[in-house]
Amino acid sequence: MKKRSLLILGIFASLLGMAQPATTADTTWKKAFRETSTRINDLVHTKLDVKFDYDRSWMYGKAWITLQPHFYKTDSLTLDAKGMEIKKIAMVKGASMKELKYVYDGWQLHIDLDRSYKGGEAYTVFIDYISKPNEVKVKGSAAINDAKGLYFINPKGEDKNKPTQIWTQGETEASSVWFPTIDKPNQKTTDEIYMTVPAKYVTLSNGKLMSQKKNADGTRTDYWKMDLPHAPYLFFMGVGDFAVVKDSYKGKEVSYYVDKEYGPVARKIFGLTPEMIAFFSRITGVDYPWVKYAQITGHDYVSGAMENTTATLHSDAAQQTARELVDGNRWESTIAHELFHQWFGDYVTAESWSNITLNESFANYSETLWNEYKYGKDSGDDQNFGDMQGYLGSNSSKKDLVRFYYNDKEDVFDAVSYNKGGRILHMLRNYVGDSAFFKALNLYLTTNKFKSGEAQNLRLAFEDVTGRDLNWYWNQWYYGSGHPNLDINYSYDEATKKARVIVNQTQSGDKVFKLPVAVDVYNGANKTRYQVWVKNKIDTFYFNSERKPDLVNFDGDKMLLTVKKENKTLDEYIHQYKFAGSYLDRREAIDFASKKQDDPKAVELLKTALKDKYEGLRNFAIGKLDLKKETVRKAVEPVLADLAKNDKNRPVKASAIQRLGEYESPEYASLFKMALNDSSYTVAGNALEALSAVDSLTALNEAKRLSKLENDGDLASAITTVMLASGDESIANDVLARFEGMALSQEKFNMLQSIGSMLSKSSNMDLVKRGVDAIVEFRDAIPDGIKNQTDPFINGILLKGMITKKKQAGLNDQADYILSKLPEADKKGF
Ligand SMILES: [Zn+2]
Repeated sequence: MKKRSLLILGIFASLLGMAQPATTADTTWKKAFRETSTRINDLVHTKLDVKFDYDRSWMYGKAWITLQPHFYKTDSLTLDAKGMEIKKIAMVKGASMKELKYVYDGWQLHIDLDRSYKGGEAYTVFIDYISKPNEVKVKGSAAINDAKGLYFINPKGEDKNKPTQIWTQGETEASSVWFPTIDKPNQKTTDEIYMTVPAKYVTLSNGKLMSQKKNADGTRTDYWKMDLPHAPYLFFMGVGDFAVVKDSYKGKEVSYYVDKEYGPVARKIFGLTPEMIAFFSRITGVDYPWVKYAQITGHDYVSGAMENTTATLHSDAAQQTARELVDGNRWESTIAHELFHQWFGDYVTAESWSNITLNESFANYSETLWNEYKYGKDSGDDQNFGDMQGYLGSNSSKKDLVRFYYNDKEDVFDAVSYNKGGRILHMLRNYVGDSAFFKALNLYLTTNKFKSGEAQNLRLAFEDVTGRDLNWYWNQWYYGSGHPNLDINYSYDEATKKARVIVNQTQSGDKVFKLPVAVDVYNGANKTRYQVWVKNKIDTFYFNSERKPDLVNFDGDKMLLTVKKENKTLDEYIHQYKFAGSYLDRREAIDFASKKQDDPKAVELLKTALKDKYEGLRNFAIGKLDLKKETVRKAVEPVLADLAKNDKNRPVKASAIQRLGEYESPEYASLFKMALNDSSYTVAGNALEALSAVDSLTALNEAKRLSKLENDGDLASAITTVMLASGDESIANDVLARFEGMALSQEKFNMLQSIGSMLSKSSNMDLVKRGVDAIVEFRDAIPDGIKNQTDPFINGILLKGMITKKKQAGLNDQADYILSKLPEADKKGF
């Protein structure tokens, strides 16, 4: 599973979807060891026959579930079945049935079998039931909205702007809302599903579509069959009016289910999938194990994406227009992530949520692997570094990666299991080497295929391949928490001709990390590599060098998960940029130089970095320029102008245009004007804002012209900004009308910031009142479960920010009006 971006603008869906129960003072969970679910009975095969009631958002189901006692004989069976109406339960005896006694508490079925069955002796129970996903109660408390399992989207077609769809979301334990099962990740079952749907819709499920049969009542029954075992949480059904675009991998069907209007662009969004399948097959040494691979998009999806076996579900945010894609495919990493789960998660499954690292750390790391393979090492390192920052910024250094104590099972889907776990794999790969790393992945996958595993299974595979004892690594990183903070001090002793590196572990607490690290000593372009072990609170290393080295580069491969402080000089960083040369070597140098922009040598380095071979670093350098400094301004102007005109990478071009706009120089007006017609919304939007600073009349005319054409994203907000600045408020009223008309949704939440920015620029009291009222109405309509997280965002950044701007502009009655909409606690300071 991949959650939505944790950026504030992505928070709403994940909050809505994953709304946590209100935090209570109950901390008993801290003492409750989360053991792996006991296997009394094992699932063998699941056959379902389902029909949907769109009016009531119900599903009529018949299930034939084949099981066998795991080892010990038993005469009873407990199944998870959440919020269902149970009509009948019977033992299947050849062609006949024998009714069984059961007790049902709305959550689990406790069934008395007709006799005792011994280990491995298969039997089949039949259950006739109705699934009522909107009526499920969590153990007698309020209805749930975060784990309905089965979702009816716009089922009665009342919302004209949204298609009618059905999709399911099983992880963690919500599949049992729509079929009775043992809803635990250490169970696996083959399956067959007969889905009866209105004939106008297409369906998707796991495995292969075996047949379709038209019924007399205008419905159609699709028969899907999955003949390899997988976990219940990976079951999937999707129903709707989709365009289905087909590719293939080695003769297996690869398909993309998107909203009809995205049919023509589906291959631009998902088309790298066959190449990804080939890549992941090659590096794991396990050719894609399933019969097909489909990806489907779902409206109002409660998460980012989910790796259902052979049938990945993506949020509809995956759908991008051809113009949006010009700025880069924002969903490509997620496509890789879910695909890699088909091996790590689906083929071999974490046996418990405590061991979710076996799924999520790999899926997360696949994003680095894919970028490295497809776009080069800089791109992979960029992904790796970004993910590391995601962990470091998450304030979760107290959580173990494998976590046997947690409050809610959803809690383990966090920056530790994803981002930190991915970095732990990255360091492991560096330590054992590429060929051992991938060989060990292959051994882990082939040894545990169609089964579940725990983190120790992974250790055993790595030990088997490398011949090394790796308990220290697993104990430190998998069964421990935190990361090292390193203070690295370099010096040179002329007398002894030795370079010295002192490494001080400054993280709080008693834990001392053991780290195998490469140290590179540079004399000119010449590099000598030393392999050292950091293992004490303070370690000192000496390296022979006839003269003071130009650079000593600790962690020469830049692979450590760490926060570090170093006493390197600007000259050393310049050397590092030129000769050490990995993505992070260069990034660190740019970052350091950006803090020294009074030094001509630093400016020279930034100027070089503006032409870095990797677009991510060009963009990074552009953003770091201090254009208030006249010397910097002069030095970089020609380079910026060149990037603004010629850079092939759209985000770089867009940033360069934005910075060039800060010169407010009329000589660039024609450059900006030309860029207005760029297919990238970001380039065009930044160009419009830059143009308005040098020629507001032309900018306004262009804004009016562009407002009638296709526009979105940065271009749309630039058009609004320019028109508002001119006093033309027609567009603002259009934007507000659209906002007011939207239902409570992620899309609406996403609009907040641009609405706020628009309102902060308007001097029209009526307009501001209308806009603020709309924001406040939205704020107050958000459900209680997530209000405590959305209110601070809306009141803080939006409303308070607006008050400040209004006061600066002398618009005090506007400021007072906004103030009156804030809760008492937020009024302080105004
Ligand atoms: Zn995932």
